[in-house]
Amino acid sequence: MSDEATCACPIPDSYTAKDFRSTLKPIWCPGCGDYGVVSAVYRALANIGRPPHEIAFISGIGCSSRIPGYTTAYGFNTVHGRALPIAQGIKMAGPELLVLVAGGDGDGFSIGGGHVPHAIRRNLDLTYLVMDNQIYGLTKGQLSPTSPRGTKTPSSLYGSIEDPVNPLLYVLAYGAGFVAQGVPADMEGLAKLIEEAIRYPGFSFVNIQSPCVTYGDAENQLKSQKARMKKLSDLGHDQTNRIRAMELASEYSTSLYTGVFYKNPNPPATYDSYIKNLQQELAPQAKPLDRLLALTT
Ligand code: SF4
Repeated sequence: MSDEATCACPIPDSYTAKDFRSTLKPIWCPGCGDYGVVSAVYRALANIGRPPHEIAFISGIGCSSRIPGYTTAYGFNTVHGRALPIAQGIKMAGPELLVLVAGGDGDGFSIGGGHVPHAIRRNLDLTYLVMDNQIYGLTKGQLSPTSPRGTKTPSSLYGSIEDPVNPLLYVLAYGAGFVAQGVPADMEGLAKLIEEAIRYPGFSFVNIQSPCVTYGDAENQLKSQKARMKKLSDLGHDQTNRIRAMELASEYSTSLYTGVFYKNPNPPATYDSYIKNLQQELAPQAKPLDRLLALTT
């Protein structure tokens, strides 16, 4: 964190999307859905209005996990499947930070799949964006946990014979308080969803069907997404109804719903707020590190 008292640069009162764009040029393939995702993130962060130095953006490994480097937030491109545990540690050490976590479907629901339920039940205030392209793009097109049955790839010539993981049902079943899905083809809608997820006080999850134009299914490319997507708001979906959200989420493989599936109308206290209160009770005068040590010894 920068120190306002010693920094010569004035901190602006408001931000634009440009303020969150780094000088690093993305190296995603031309047309990759992830370009739309990072643009939506810029817009969402501009609306949130926190300065870049108060934001920590953590990712795993994969094409989509390059995203923190394309923003002016503090970024940490960590190890495969371990973005969530690292992000939780960062939130504990710096509870005032806005913590964003991002990665692909393989990173989140295969290699890192075991971390997701624990991040949900722990309920730290952070936002997890999964760029779900239903394939491993970085390693040249292997089946991922969300690849539909029958998907053929350069290394799976006869097609997948496994059913995919349903990321929406997965997080709803474990009790996530905010669950949404967006597509880069609807950039404005996606930016709003990311903003709403960040504003939700607790663990929030946005599944982003972000097409891989190089190895992905042609059906799932940007133009066809626009034609296939159905906004949950147009269906009159009640986003406080978790059972209905699960019914709609169960159509993950057949219908492309966008919007908020579920938002807990009474968000419970977050893990970070519990710890803060405990620390205050145990040692109100101690420095933050001493308070943390008092809790763990
Ligand atoms: Fe995007 Fe696919 Fe290219 Fe990776 S391989 S950058 S996911 S289009």
